[in-house]
Amino acid sequence: MAKIIDGKGFAARLHVTISQLTSQMQSTFGITPGLTVVLVGDNPASQVYVRNKARQAEAAGIHSETRYLSAQISQAELLRLIDQLNRNPAVHGILVQLPLPAAIDPQAVIEAIDPAKDVDGFHPLNVGRLSVGGNARLPCTPMGCLLLLKDCLGDLAGQHAIVIGRSNIVGKPMALLLLRQNCTVTIAHSQTRHLAEECRRADIVVAAVGRPQLVKRDWIKPGATIIDVGMNRIVTDSGATRLVGDVDFPALQSIAHAITPVPGGVGPMTIACLLLNTLAATYSQMNWPLPQALNELIP
Ligand code: NAP
Repeated sequence: MAKIIDGKGFAARLHVTISQLTSQMQSTFGITPGLTVVLVGDNPASQVYVRNKARQAEAAGIHSETRYLSAQISQAELLRLIDQLNRNPAVHGILVQLPLPAAIDPQAVIEAIDPAKDVDGFHPLNVGRLSVGGNARLPCTPMGCLLLLKDCLGDLAGQHAIVIGRSNIVGKPMALLLLRQNCTVTIAHSQTRHLAEECRRADIVVAAVGRPQLVKRDWIKPGATIIDVGMNRIVTDSGATRLVGDVDFPALQSIAHAITPVPGGVGPMTIACLLLNTLAATYSQMNWPLPQALNELIP
């Protein structure tokens, strides 16, 4: 049976380290890292994510503020708020929760955030640095996936990885991170031919698709490691709803070397990595070197 990769436990350990580092920063320099999350509109899923981010940030000693804005806000007003946050020295990290209302161009908003405060790692400067090399702020979900993979497998060099999905927030940065680890990387998407065959060649499968249980047992090479990013709410026969990933977890358990569950796998790592990014952003804005404990954690 596959090893179950415990993202929840890993994230809990990261939270302990982050709390120690924030209290060390407070006692040594008198600075508290500050994270501002901007939520536009009343998307219920986004409200839950934002509440969780704020709660976990505060628990780790990071000052967290959430700006709730009406769905009717104009793009110009939102950009003005971002400009204020960029110039506020108590704000070290800015996160604009996506998706935004249709009238607002998300790329314009992402590009307005100071790249040094871009704790989501979505600004083109950070994306570019991830691609060409340099000190990039990494997107939280792929960073969490990579931490789990390295913890489970150690050195990833030479492994054949497939990333299913090519979104800007998960698939593409995940593929770049795996390439940086010297994996041989295949990126699959909705137009990929013979997806099952492509998958069967991989030692590592990262599924970031948003299709419940798409990846089947006969798509998997025996002994492969599976990272399931998908979060899909399905209605069961009894009428209740249940969260499932993008892979057929029960079936894959008997063929994989290791696999993340949903929930309890990648999800908790995303917020932990957001807090790591906020802490790292604070150090770099204060022009202090990263403490070794933090440096070792960020891939
Ligand atoms: P997205 O922007 O909708 O991208 C989905 C990707 O999957 C696209 O590249 C799409 O291809 C590809 N795709 C769709 N159907 C496919 C198929 N049948 N075969 C192969 N590829 C297919 O989604 P996302 O934002 O990357 O999120 C993906 C999943 O991860 C969702 O379930 C989301 O809820 C979850 N997620 C979880 C976390 C977390 O913290 N755990 C964070 C972010 C996202 P095309 O490009 O060709 O359309």
